[in-house]
Amino acid sequence: VRIETICTGDELLTGLTSDTNSRTFQALLLDLTGLTVRRSVVVGDVREDIIEALDAAAARCDAVLVSGGLGPTSDDLTAACAADAAGVELVESPEALAHLRARFAARGLAVTPNNLRQALVPRGAEVVLNPEGSAPLIIQQRGGCTFFFVPGVPREYHHLTQHHVVPRLAARLHGAPVRVLKLLKVVGLPESHLDARMTPLASKHPRLTFGYRTHPPENHLKLLAEAPTRAEALAALAAAELDARAVLGSHCFGADEESLAGAALQCLRQRQERLVLAESCTGGLVGALLTEVPGASEVLFGGVITYLDAAKLLWAEVPLELVSSAGAVSRACALAMAAGVREASGVAWSLSVTGFAGPDGGTADEPVGAVYVAVVGPGVQVVERHFFPGDRERVRRFAAHAALDLLRRTAQAQPG
Ligand code: AMP
Ligand code: MG
Repeated sequence: VRIETICTGDELLTGLTSDTNSRTFQALLLDLTGLTVRRSVVVGDVREDIIEALDAAAARCDAVLVSGGLGPTSDDLTAACAADAAGVELVESPEALAHLRARFAARGLAVTPNNLRQALVPRGAEVVLNPEGSAPLIIQQRGGCTFFFVPGVPREYHHLTQHHVVPRLAARLHGAPVRVLKLLKVVGLPESHLDARMTPLASKHPRLTFGYRTHPPENHLKLLAEAPTRAEALAALAAAELDARAVLGSHCFGADEESLAGAALQCLRQRQERLVLAESCTGGLVGALLTEVPGASEVLFGGVITYLDAAKLLWAEVPLELVSSAGAVSRACALAMAAGVREASGVAWSLSVTGFAGPDGGTADEPVGAVYVAVVGPGVQVVERHFFPGDRERVRRFAAHAALDLLRRTAQAQPG
């Protein structure tokens, strides 16, 4: 099945908006059908360019998803181009018109003549009403190719692709092999090592395709299983996942939607213990990553940003003498920060980060990119030194992930 996407809109070519719709569709399509898009193009709001893109896709595709250009304004050309390209006229869709009038009435708005354009569709096309907006999803068959014309507004686009476009594509695959997918997420293993560890598994799992995606500082292993039935595909996937997890050990922190912060929180949640933070160079990034996870409040007590030495003394009880002798970026300071906030809060676990994010700073012993992360918990205290080359943003992001990962590994290894 060959599927392509076409996005229309001048704003996508002038740096005003980036095309997030294609990503939404690609992820949904892969998750629900195991299929990938063969080509994805962006064209401006230019009649000839849109028609040319539609004609080219019609000639080689089974299905094409077209985003944008279904609005009421004069730069919204997609429905007219679809009609022209197919050699049919635009006709008014009574359902689309009734839906549009009802939406406007519900909001107490008058329908202006340009709004009526949103009820015009190529003759012969199918209309699926859009509960999130006034422009419908238009489905047009041209020879062997099905076009799905979807409004560009991301909320509308997401709803219509998830509930109508992708399920229709999946239904069309009926009888074709079933594909199921799982993403295993890994830290601390470069992509090349990940690949080397997986290579021996390939011959044992003939139904599997192993793929890799890098999401610094994480690497993701994509397991895609294909079999004649869903039950067989799921069984093949489960067997491969078991082997892959065994080979990856504690490098694997989760699957699919799970995040590193979520995995770290889960370790403490299971132990019914809480966490407190002391962050220096990450400036609250560890806290931000943790609080992205729903239910973080069951675990996270809070934290402090102890940026200056005086803050380290005031909020994490790090003696100034320790900072001046060992340095603010040191094993001793990281441990003292963690121990200090743990003591002050009375919480079971504490996590600290201190490092040089650059671009300036650093000392003779500790260059920019040097980061210490420390964890103190019941009966355990650990500190790790890392060196992250790169710009400030990268050092901070990697430091926050290193801290979360140390917490996760330490808590997992600690008898509950
Ligand atoms: P349109 O359907 O072309 O009128 O677009 C409606 C709104 O959706 C505009 O604000 C666009 O910037 C936005 N939009 C259009 N295409 C995309 C896309 N591919 N990704 C993200 N937003 C988009
Ligand atoms: Mg547009």
